[in-house]
Amino acid sequence: MTHRPGRHFLQIPGPTNVPDRILRAMDRPIIDHRGPEFARLGKEVLNGCREVFQTSEPVVVFPASGTGAWEACIVNTLSPGDRVLAFETGHFSTLWQAMARRWGLNVEFVPGDWRHGVNPEQLEARLAEDNTHAIRAVMVVHNETSTGVTSRIPEIRRAMNSARHPALLLVDAVSSLGSLEYKHTEWGVDVTVTGSQKGLMLPPGLAFNAVSRKAIAASKANRTPRSYWDWDEMLKANDRFFFPYTPATNLLYGLREAIAMLLEEGLQTVFARHRRFGDATRAAVRHWGLELLPLDSREYSNSLTAVVMPQGHDADHFRAIALERYDISLGSGLGKVTGVVFRIGHLGDFNDLMLAGSLAGVEMGLRAAGVPHRAGGVQAAMDSLSNETAPATAAHAVGSISAVTAIPLAKEAP
Ligand SMILES: *Cc1c(COP(=O)(O)O)cnc(C)c1O
Repeated sequence: MTHRPGRHFLQIPGPTNVPDRILRAMDRPIIDHRGPEFARLGKEVLNGCREVFQTSEPVVVFPASGTGAWEACIVNTLSPGDRVLAFETGHFSTLWQAMARRWGLNVEFVPGDWRHGVNPEQLEARLAEDNTHAIRAVMVVHNETSTGVTSRIPEIRRAMNSARHPALLLVDAVSSLGSLEYKHTEWGVDVTVTGSQKGLMLPPGLAFNAVSRKAIAASKANRTPRSYWDWDEMLKANDRFFFPYTPATNLLYGLREAIAMLLEEGLQTVFARHRRFGDATRAAVRHWGLELLPLDSREYSNSLTAVVMPQGHDADHFRAIALERYDISLGSGLGKVTGVVFRIGHLGDFNDLMLAGSLAGVEMGLRAAGVPHRAGGVQAAMDSLSNETAPATAAHAVGSISAVTAIPLAKEAP
């Protein structure tokens, strides 16, 4: 490959752009993972994770991709033969339930059209029928990265409560944590699964399970053999801020920085920023005259947008042209929607001008690929961004307080 000047636009919905600040934070010598310096790092990241998941419960961190976090969730809480309820919201829910089947679980997979999230009324009705409480867990993908549909977890929890059903609530928040509102404890989630390479702005390689007390109790009673993924071993070592085996030390340096960045900006500001990106991107798509894959506006994802190609046009052909001409990577259609949709990732370390640039790449790509559209979507997105003014960062919002604490005091120097 010859050199391509300028920056590549990585606008797939994960892995996302890793900010320089995180790259620099990871550029450090390896330390003894059983030494005192590691314990300080372990303490910071394990406590910091709880803030990002909005929980006071433990967060377990594995060296793995998000798929590993799925598996850890299953093998700790469930046993072969257990009945679980899952919903076909798209490609990722399909993969997760397939994994559950391979573990011998008895999966009830509610069919879906890949344009809607989990329907809380349907869930409540199904749980109400289950008067023997045979269903041990409900598995939900919060943000379906294949469709750009976000399921409403608080309503799902309410449905489970109204049905007075004791099933565990297992939630995949891989492409939502750190970009969309998410409250592990307040929403009554038992296990939240995520990975490092999406909203957390890190390279791939870390997998997370936030675990409720009820989930820990289920894991203690659960006889499924497990070793690498065992929460018990992990939590014992984590008590002293260590890990039972060699952790991904440098990714943990990155994680410490990512948590600091999210908390400096303020989680509410982060979520508001993504809402603006979602609104602006949808404004562009509507202006182009293209169709959004999600059909219910309550379920629009603010971390990515899935766009349906006009009949007779192939999404992968369009993506290939956009990549070749404008050096932008857009997300492909996955599974059932291969070739039918393309996805614009707008999550992570991202700002208004990066969005405008990305949407310009899409618009020029549509033109280059001969896809019928109305020019001016980028303008519509800019109008949307201008109308919804950028929220002040947390630092600005608290004004004088942070200004004072931000002044480096000589006596605090190491
Ligand atoms: C990316 C993603 C995964 C899979 O994570 P890997 O790190 O690729 O194993 C699972 N669920 C969702 C919703 C995702 O977006």
